[in-house]
This record gives sequence, C-alpha cells and structure tokens, in this order.
Amino acid sequence: MRHNWTREEILEIYNKPLMELLYEAATVHREFHDPNTVQVSTLLSIKTGGCPEDCGYCPQAARYHTDIEGNDLMRVSHVKAQALRAKAAGSSRVCMGAAWRNVKDGEEFDQVLEMVRTINKLDMEVCCTLGMITENQAQRLAEAGLYAYNHNLDTSEDYYKDVISTRAFQDRLDTIGNVRKTNVTVCSGGIIGMGEKVEDRAGMLVALATLDPQPESVPINALVAVEGTPMEDIEPISIWEMVRMVATTRIVMPQTQVRLSAGRTQMSREGQAMCFFAGANSIFAGDKLLTTPNPDVNEDMEMFKLLGLNPQAPFVKKAQPETVEAADSKHLPKGEKPKWSRPGHTIPRNEEAKAKAKA
Ligand code: SF4
Repeated sequence: MRHNWTREEILEIYNKPLMELLYEAATVHREFHDPNTVQVSTLLSIKTGGCPEDCGYCPQAARYHTDIEGNDLMRVSHVKAQALRAKAAGSSRVCMGAAWRNVKDGEEFDQVLEMVRTINKLDMEVCCTLGMITENQAQRLAEAGLYAYNHNLDTSEDYYKDVISTRAFQDRLDTIGNVRKTNVTVCSGGIIGMGEKVEDRAGMLVALATLDPQPESVPINALVAVEGTPMEDIEPISIWEMVRMVATTRIVMPQTQVRLSAGRTQMSREGQAMCFFAGANSIFAGDKLLTTPNPDVNEDMEMFKLLGLNPQAPFVKKAQPETVEAADSKHLPKGEKPKWSRPGHTIPRNEEAKAKAKA
C-alpha cells in the first residue's frame, strides 16, 4: 500500500488513454475485491436544512434560497423503520446525515447515539455524517456501535477556499484524525464538477491517498447543481470525467470501497456499468440522496440483474462493532467544541447567492 502519491503521478494516471486506464483499474479492482459485488447503502437525512455553513454546492445551507424543506431531528423509531425498509430492499449500510456545522453534546447527540445503537442491533453497518466532531464525541459514537464516520474533503486544499469560507481544509483533516483515534472506519471523498481543475481532483486524491491508513471508504460525487445555490449554473460533468475519477481512485487506493454517489440520475446505465468496471463497488439506493434526486431502488435492482451484480453483505471488510448501552457508557459528554480555524475570507460566488436569497 503506497502512501506517498504525488499530484504529478496521479495526474499521469488520470490522463492515460481511457482503455489503458480502465484495464489497469479493473485489474487492481479484481486483485482486492469481488468485481461482481457492489454494496448498497441507504442515506437518511435525519436533520435537514438550516445549516450555518456556506458550502457552495449545498442546498441545505440556511443562507441560500432553495426549495429544501427543513426538518428537525428524526425520532429513533422513524429511523428504525426506515432502516428496516432499507434492509429488506437489499441495503447493508445506513448512513445518517445531519445538516450541522459540528456535533454539540446534549439531547440531540444522545438521540443520534441511540439511533446508532438501534441500527447496529439490526446487523447493518451504521455510518454518520454530522459535521465536525471532537475525539470524545468520536469515542462516544464508537461505543454506541458506529461502523463508519463520513467527513468529505470535498476537493483539493487549493480549491477548497473557493467552495467554503466558513471552515478550513485542515478542520476536515482534524475531524478525520479524531475518528482515526477510535475503531470507527473513515469515509471521506469529494465532489467533481464544481468548476475545479483536473489538478484539484488529483490534489484531493493526494490528500486522501497519503493518509495512513487510507480511508476505508471514498465517495465520489458528481455535482448536482441546485437552483439557489452558488453553483446553480454549473453544467453537469461528463461521464468520462466520472469514469476517470473512479478509475484513478481505485488505482491509488486499492483496498478502499469506492462509492458512486450523487449524480447517478444524470448517468446512463452504460455509464454506471463503466464506473463499476473501473472499480466503483458501492452505490446509494433510494430516490433521494439527502436532498438531491437519486435512482429508484427497483431501477437499481434491475440494473444489478442486468449486469449480474450482487449486493454486498454487511461487515465483509471489518467485524461488527459491539454496542455499549447508554447506562454503561465509559465516555461522558465533555461539552467540548471542535476547534476550527476560520480563514476569515469571503467567496464572491457564495456572497452573490446569499444576497440573491435575501432579495
Ligand atoms: S454540506 Fe453539510 S456542512 Fe455544508 S452546508 Fe450542507 S449540510 Fe452544512
């Protein structure tokens, strides 16, 4: 496993003639994974909208005017019902997303911990994406039985400054570092098609591939441009860029689960098949991905049948974590806030969208 990839080396892979790139990626994929197995995950938005951050791609940021319907934190019983439905439809993993800047100790976090315990007891992998977390909060999630924590790097460190002004790239790495201090696996990837250069895509892969250990899971998203966000006018990325990104990710992170995430509604079945050939081995099922459209579960199952793919069972890569009940917890809330550095800069595109929303 290499952890010393450079941007130049990754660019060289990304820009190879397509057939050569596909052959190399598919060869690496077969060495480390069953090419006919793809994990089906379900993404649940457990708290939607009203986020104080200014991520330029996100319709959940409170400062932009989008038609997202905000929701308070879901009840545990509701989450359990959704997880059971997802399991019956072939999902082996549930990822719960809350539109928070960071986790705050208190009633709402306790409720999330209960959701984690509940889903782990359904023998499904549980993942959370809740924003920045401290080491103590990561320990509490681990104790509840969390399998993975998602915190995307989004893009390269250079381009990050043009996408989000309310936190810095290093803050993302700090949260990933806090998760790494526990036995929870790391899920971290990004979005392509946000107006970045190919060098930025390579830069993001350098940041991920040089982590030791590399993330167990890397979602690759294509931007879904939503009206009202600063990126509303950006044209969808071509499927060839997506295939190249998936293949390059597979080559530089051979053991990682590469997740074909947002943007699948803009892709043909042929395009998705090429992504699976290039090394993608997970999709998100369900007609919504947090707030953006996603193919229907039945459509995906038809595609699996057509391509001869099988959904992956849970806990294939790592043993199921044990769940400690709240009353037996060794980690008490500390009320700490994650430390973050604010670059204190503004992004013209984000400011314009904010002004438009106010007007
Ligand atoms: S991506 Fe997450 S942190 Fe950024 S605005 Fe959306 S919900 Fe908030």
